[in-house]
Parts: sequence; structure tokens; C-alpha cells
Amino acid sequence: SANRTDNAVVVIGLGRFGGSLAMELMSRGTDVMGIDISDSIVQSFNGKLTSVVRADATDEDVLRQLGVDEFERSVVGIGSDIQASILVTSRLLKFQCPEVWAKAITAPHAEILEQLGVHHVVNPERDMGVRTAHLIQGHILDFV
Ligand code: ATP
Repeated sequence: SANRTDNAVVVIGLGRFGGSLAMELMSRGTDVMGIDISDSIVQSFNGKLTSVVRADATDEDVLRQLGVDEFERSVVGIGSDIQASILVTSRLLKFQCPEVWAKAITAPHAEILEQLGVHHVVNPERDMGVRTAHLIQGHILDFV
């Protein structure tokens, strides 16, 4: 809808994956709202993203209060806590966010995210293994 936050991305989970993704979006001129449950992570990103909030993103009311339901594009960078990954992702899909990206750490995790209706599932280790093979062979292929 026209009310959605058009040129901005909400990144939930600012670990190695979500954190570097958020910083790269910022360096390329995209506004980023970062959300993480960890105080120290939030402090380390303070002033580096458009906004950073410490919150448990599995809480639907909290997400609404933060305006996460208004974003056109969202990324779930939570991996090892699969329950949190699934809960947060299902909230974003319930908000009818038109472009949800989510990280998976195993094949079954990826399968569940796809069944939920996630638009783009990323498995950094698997995808980077494939990409590195291409780099080794000298064919730099862009995908995803
Ligand atoms: P990476 O490899 O990207 O560092 P990971 O696969 O180890 O991450 P996790 O540690 O599960 O993934 O989560 C990444 C980030 O998500 C962490 O900074 C963690 O604090 C945050 N996180 C985990 N659960 C929640 C939650 N319920 N709400 C908000 N942030 C969360």
C-alpha cells in the first residue's frame, strides 16, 4: 500500500549475517531499521543504522508498535534459534509484507520457511559454498 515505508528495510537479528547485510544496505543509501534482542548487539549498531531497537521480535504487538507492519521489505537474520526465526517470519507474513527475506541454517529450516510463504530464503553457508566453487572455477555467477 502507499502507506508502507517504501525505501527502507527492516532487519531483524543483527548477527554476522543480518549485521553485515544492514551495514551494506546503509552504505548503498537504503534506510535500515535494525531490531535485536541483545543489548550489546544493539549498542554496537547504535548510530550506524537509521534506527536500532532492542526488542523481542517474536512479539507481534511489539512489532506493530515499532511500525514493522508498514515496511515493504524485511529480512529475518535469526538462524540458530529456529523457533524465533519461524515466529518472526510468520508475523511478517501475517502483516502481508510484500517482500520477506529469511535466513535458513539447515535444509529442513529452509523448507519450513518456504512452506510458510517466505519470498526469498537464503542459506549463507550453502549458497556461499556454491558461489565459492564458481569463483574457484573462474566463473563468477550472480544469483539469488
Ligand atoms: P549469525 O550467524 O548471523 O551471527 P546465527 O545464525 O548464529 O547468526 P542467531 O544467533 O540465532 O543466528 O541470531 C542472530 C541474531 O538475532 C542475534 O544477534 C540475536 O541476538 C538475534 N535474535 C535472536 N532471537 C531474537 C528475537 N527473538 N528477537 C530479536 N532478535 C533476536
